[in-house]
Amino acid sequence: MDLNSLGTIKIIEYFNSIQGEGEFAGLPMTFIRLKECNLRCPFCDTRPWDASFAIMTPLTLVHTLQDLMPGGILPHVCITGGEPLLDPGLPLLIDLLADLVDTIHIETNASPQVWTSKLDEKVRGWRPNVQFTVSPKTPKWGMADFYRGPYEFISDIKILVGEDGPLNIGRLDDFIDVNCSVYLQPVDPGGTEPYIDRVKDAVFKICSILKEYPEYQLSLQLHKLLNLR
Ligand code: SF4
Repeated sequence: MDLNSLGTIKIIEYFNSIQGEGEFAGLPMTFIRLKECNLRCPFCDTRPWDASFAIMTPLTLVHTLQDLMPGGILPHVCITGGEPLLDPGLPLLIDLLADLVDTIHIETNASPQVWTSKLDEKVRGWRPNVQFTVSPKTPKWGMADFYRGPYEFISDIKILVGEDGPLNIGRLDDFIDVNCSVYLQPVDPGGTEPYIDRVKDAVFKICSILKEYPEYQLSLQLHKLLNLR
């Protein structure tokens, strides 16, 4: 079979760094940022719709990561976006990477337009070393059972919080008894001030929420604190 004929992916960037957020903060990872996204969140700090990108086959990307990227592919890979699950080349990319690395982490907004029942069936057939971080970005959620179901491949949930409270997720209560860690992460409005100054009001808000929801945890963006990519 010609693997180059099985779809392409739109890539904004790839690089090695440490994971700055959530369950795996501090773990060295290879990051692959894909272009597609079904949303245009006003608080988006990556703005994939504005970003330039390259089109590659998954096979070419894997060879590029192995042979041309300084450091090669690390044992843990994070595929982020944008919304990676919209990219038609993703399943083949996962298949190729799954033989080479220990874990593949996929960050998704898992909105109803993305996590359809068809996709749900497909994901169940994906490799066992694939895990998901879900960061809900739409209020039309109503998917509390989604997280409690047999979704052992969801490693953590990341909820963005601004100085006025959680953004676009509906009810915080929906996540209380899920089967994975729940992180509250301050929204970064961007700008030239140090990261911790930019997010301090949101962090205060999170601290007040945590008094009511001790099941949840604060997640800061460690890579920004350390001025890493
Ligand atoms: S889902 Fe994520 S990448 Fe897409 S617009 Fe929203 S914040 Fe940005």
